[in-house]
Amino acid sequence: MSDEEKRDAKQAAIRGFMLKCPSCGIGKTLHKYLKVRDKCSHCGIELHHASVDDGPAYFTLMVVVAVIFPLFAILYTQFDPNPFLVALSLMGVATGLALWLLPRVKGVFLGLQWAARLHGF
Ligand SMILES: [Zn+2]
Repeated sequence: MSDEEKRDAKQAAIRGFMLKCPSCGIGKTLHKYLKVRDKCSHCGIELHHASVDDGPAYFTLMVVVAVIFPLFAILYTQFDPNPFLVALSLMGVATGLALWLLPRVKGVFLGLQWAARLHGF
């Protein structure tokens, strides 16, 4: 692949969401939950250039809030639930969703950085 070749951002984002290397789509990009590997475990491209900072955390928070708040509205307009049970269950849903989504969003950010050749990619 030459340096001038255009990289497919959509494909890189999808591969990132699947926690796969944005270049080959086979190797893994993260280890220990959120740590970016120095190199792809399959094709060997360097990944240590990635610098996503707090972007994935903010985006994940926005998505989780966008999912949880309507659930509050649906629960309280359709049913008359116990507030304690609602708070407890939606905290669990929010935590689970955030923990599931955060590495995938980080993978998307990493893939988009790779596709745009940012930070030395
Ligand atoms: Zn790879």
